[in-house]
Amino acid sequence: AKALGRGCYAFFDVDLDQRNHRLMQIKHGLRHALSRNEMSLVYQPEIHLETREIFGYEVLMRWHSEELGPISPSEFIPVAEESDIIADLTSWMMLQACRDLLPLLNDKMQIGVNISPRQFGGDRWLTLIRQCIDQEGLRPSQLCVEITEGALIRDMEQAVVQLSELRKLGIRVAIDDFGTGYSSLSYLKRLPIDFLKIDRTFVADIETDQDDQAIICAIINMAQSLGIGLIAEGVETQEQLKFLKSQGCDIAQGYFFARPMSVDQIKC
Ligand code: C2E
Ligand code: CA
Ligand code: CA
Ligand code: CA
Repeated sequence: AKALGRGCYAFFDVDLDQRNHRLMQIKHGLRHALSRNEMSLVYQPEIHLETREIFGYEVLMRWHSEELGPISPSEFIPVAEESDIIADLTSWMMLQACRDLLPLLNDKMQIGVNISPRQFGGDRWLTLIRQCIDQEGLRPSQLCVEITEGALIRDMEQAVVQLSELRKLGIRVAIDDFGTGYSSLSYLKRLPIDFLKIDRTFVADIETDQDDQAIICAIINMAQSLGIGLIAEGVETQEQLKFLKSQGCDIAQGYFFARPMSVDQIKC
């Protein structure tokens, strides 16, 4: 048993070493990613289900590292969030998204950006918002800041203050990955929220899983009675779309409508 125990321990160690090595490579690579032009943005439309018109675009970051190849944002964003790198990436992302999208959007369409609450607040964040408005011509109501439910719960006090500030400026606020945060939901009363984005894990099995159906219906009913808009994520099939629409969901996003696209793909 002892030998086995030691064997397992050693195996675990190697695994951990590899993971740490990868994280270090990512952290190191991220420092040069912007100056080496390795970052790019793609945009995924959010569709109004009643009219099928484009309601807005979510901005999603892409990194193709010369050394490491393509790396998913689910892998590099958490690393960037541990340092100041996330602030540089966010500045670049917001300004680039304004330049790419504003010429293509009407006043009613929104740009959805993913933001971690730890990075907002402070002078740099305010300067960035002001720059988007004054220099790039963004209207505050065209910006929708998406913050994940998990991040919100971890930093509740910070988030309440910051999100209220954004709302005062006329910027919209969406709770991302809604339903995954094991929250008490009491924050829905404390926070000025414009949209809930229903996490795609609930949408995925909507046709077959009655529990997921029940959860989605409950989320939709709750949002409607609180006067909060709904955006369903990860819609891949006609059946999922039909179900969401029949339950009164306003807006949806997913491969069924479009994959995330470069700005050139949007134009044609
Ligand atoms: P998210 O905000 O929940 O973004 C939605 C993710 O679902 C995106 O993954 C998108 O490509 C994917 N997706 C969209 N439609 C479908 C579909 O129909 N089916 C499936 N299976 N997936 C779909 P992506 O682009 O890999 O981004 C992963 C996460 O990385 C995002 O999750 C977001 O949390 C984070 N992220 C991406 N860009 C940024 C950024 O600029 N800043 C920050 N802070 N986070 C970002
Ligand atoms: Ca998002
Ligand atoms: Ca999401
Ligand atoms: Ca997510």
